[in-house]
Amino acid sequence: MNLFDVYPLNDIEITKATGLHVWDANDQQYLDLYGGHAVISIGHTHPHYVKRLTDQLNKVGFYSNSVKIPLQVQLAEKLGQVSGKIDFQLFLCNSGAEANENALKLASFYNGRKKVIAFKGAFHGRTSLAVAVTDNPKIVAPVNENENIIFLPHNNEVALEETFKAQGDEIAAVIIEGIQGVGGIKEASKSFLQKIRSLCDEYNAVYIADSVQCGYGRTGLFYSHDYAGVEADVYTMAKGMGNGFPVAGIAIAPKFKAWHGELGTTFGGNHLACAAALAVLEIMDQDNLMKNAEKVGNYLVEELKKFEQVKEVRGRGLMIGIELPEELAHVKKELLFTHHIFTGEAKPNVIRLLPALNITKAQADEFLSAFEKTLNK
Ligand code: PMP
Repeated sequence: MNLFDVYPLNDIEITKATGLHVWDANDQQYLDLYGGHAVISIGHTHPHYVKRLTDQLNKVGFYSNSVKIPLQVQLAEKLGQVSGKIDFQLFLCNSGAEANENALKLASFYNGRKKVIAFKGAFHGRTSLAVAVTDNPKIVAPVNENENIIFLPHNNEVALEETFKAQGDEIAAVIIEGIQGVGGIKEASKSFLQKIRSLCDEYNAVYIADSVQCGYGRTGLFYSHDYAGVEADVYTMAKGMGNGFPVAGIAIAPKFKAWHGELGTTFGGNHLACAAALAVLEIMDQDNLMKNAEKVGNYLVEELKKFEQVKEVRGRGLMIGIELPEELAHVKKELLFTHHIFTGEAKPNVIRLLPALNITKAQADEFLSAFEKTLNK
């Protein structure tokens, strides 16, 4: 049997990893500023994380959601404490797309409506409804086409207001990333998020904050939406939540009351997943990693702005987009193959930095120095 060929791959095999470093099969060391696409949040093979998962696997790795799983309750409590949303409720699932899919279902069950507002440049995942609210026709199969989705220009308050005025009574939800990731690190403005909040209140629509990439402390805030001073109805999370173990969730405002049967999943909230997510939160909390994300992130952004070849630096905390002129689109490859630094990209000329939250200033400097050498070559 062959692999179904879906991913364009770098010719590198990672055989070992620790902290922000990974090694390939030839024992070449790399600095990882991509974190496997914002997934590695507390560094690779962190001792507390490894121990918690190993201990849990030796006790019980999985049992289904037909029995009590106290680890789920502990996780909800810890998440409430670290995120500051103590009165929210947690539903656990397995991936970002699944979290968004469930958030949209929850909204539609709640107000009985079908229409969803999404934005140009958005990415919310590849399952049926998640891909329908994603602005990339290439990944929407005919079966995923959905006439109930309304795409509006990003950060355009007038368009949003007009749409609500015309069809507000039919709108189930607005789904928005605090900072568009795949779309090129584009932050929703404060006033735009505030406008979403007030229109959702006025029309009884549900505000879904996709925090899969921009959330979980990456920006120095637990949910990047928090910077607008408004509270969403539902926050979706995945990626950094398990530091590589597949675990995702939705944090649900208290106004949604429990029901049985409409949402569910076989693997969601299993013992190992909860142990992984708890270990991540414990490390984030104990080592003050959100503060570090803010501090090192701000430093990187300020230093990157000094390069005259850089067209624009966008983002917040450790979610950074570096827009280069088209002719410098080779920089990302050069960083990887000459300087052995993993970065991500949004478009070929937008480099994305999504490092683990415990990146040091020295590691940031190592990147800045390699970046300078690459630009000046
Ligand atoms: N939402 C956002 C903002 C994302 O960046 C992603 C993944 N890139 C997803 C949802 C989908 O997450 P997953 O791949 O875990 O389904």
